[in-house]
Amino acid sequence: MKGSIVIITEHNKGQVAASTYELLAMAEEIRQGRPLDVIAVVLGAEAETAAQEMAKATGEPVVAIQNQHLALYNSELYKDLLVDILPQLDPVFVLVGQTTQGLDFAPGLAICLKAGCITGVDAVFREEGDIYFSRVMYNGKIVLDLAPLTKTTVLTVQPGSFKARRDIATTPGSVELRKSTAEPKKTRSLGTKRARQEDAGLAEADVIVSAGRGTGKKENLGLIQRLAALFPRSAVAGSRPVCDSGWLEYKKQVGLTGATVSPRVYIACGISGTIQHTVGMQGSGFIVAISTDPNAAIFNIADVCIVEDLTTFIPTLIEAYEESKGYV
Ligand SMILES: Cc1cc2nc3c(=O)[nH]c(=O)nc-3n(C[C@H](O)[C@H](O)[C@H](O)COP(=O)(O)OP(=O)(O)OC[C@H]3O[C@@H](n4cnc5c(N)ncnc54)[C@H](O)[C@@H]3O)c2cc1C
Repeated sequence: MKGSIVIITEHNKGQVAASTYELLAMAEEIRQGRPLDVIAVVLGAEAETAAQEMAKATGEPVVAIQNQHLALYNSELYKDLLVDILPQLDPVFVLVGQTTQGLDFAPGLAICLKAGCITGVDAVFREEGDIYFSRVMYNGKIVLDLAPLTKTTVLTVQPGSFKARRDIATTPGSVELRKSTAEPKKTRSLGTKRARQEDAGLAEADVIVSAGRGTGKKENLGLIQRLAALFPRSAVAGSRPVCDSGWLEYKKQVGLTGATVSPRVYIACGISGTIQHTVGMQGSGFIVAISTDPNAAIFNIADVCIVEDLTTFIPTLIEAYEESKGYV
């Protein structure tokens, strides 16, 4: 057997997550230099539905493990089932989305498989025939290249790093359905509830002014709101720490676990620009970033980079604007 790249399919009640199709694109890059099979694995109570979708969209073979105890995601059972099936597929690489779910089970899975684990992968490259993976560190300021050394390596892959490949198959891949009655022994998933509300007014906004941790304290949000108020059809948003702190509601969070926005103008205030934030706003028409750190990663995608303290810069900007309009 020549070995394989196994893609762990993330799905919600049988509907495949977009990030899984990005894993397929990464698998393609890996196998350009190494002829490995690509196999998708789907776990769940409705695994067959997602498996059929994967097989149709990708043309690759899919193994589906149907288990009624996975009507709700359970990391323990995920790990147990994968530890059972993966050795039969002879994986060289196991690709998992760096999502909340992927991060939940992937490192533990690697331990159980005695495999290496590289998290946060956002690029693949090859040198002299050997394959390497890259990830960013220190809020996107440093890129770390890693060489896999184990027979099997589990990789968690940053959403947004590879262009999704779907609907590329002329003939669907095969689907092998296996039934499992295994139960989790140590944990039970009890239920889910919606964490975010759908409508934050962000989708309609032409201009979004977004507050990051650099805003410093809740009271400084007034500055962000005043800046937003200068623009018609504007909205205030925030990065995750701002929403975690309760300064803004979660429905205002932009990024991987928040909203994806593409306003005409996005003004990032005190936001460092980690990939989990930028995947949610990099489609904006024009990006302005204000940060005290000249090396902040947000400046890599900003059209205008302002290295200033926002607590002094924003009041000065508002004042200058009001003066220009003859308000003062
Ligand atoms: C699975 C997962 C999902 C995630 N989902 C999201 C998500 O959806 N959205 C999201 O945003 N994050 C998400 N995160 C968190 C993400 O990794 C970062 O921790 C977060 O985006 C950092 O927020 P920040 O840029 O506001 O803060 P920081 O990274 O702390 O950056 C603050 C910036 O402000 C600057 N600064 C400090 N003081 C000032 C000042 N006075 N004036 C101007 N600049 C100043 C600093 O130099 C720095 O550049 C997720 C993480 C994980 C693991």
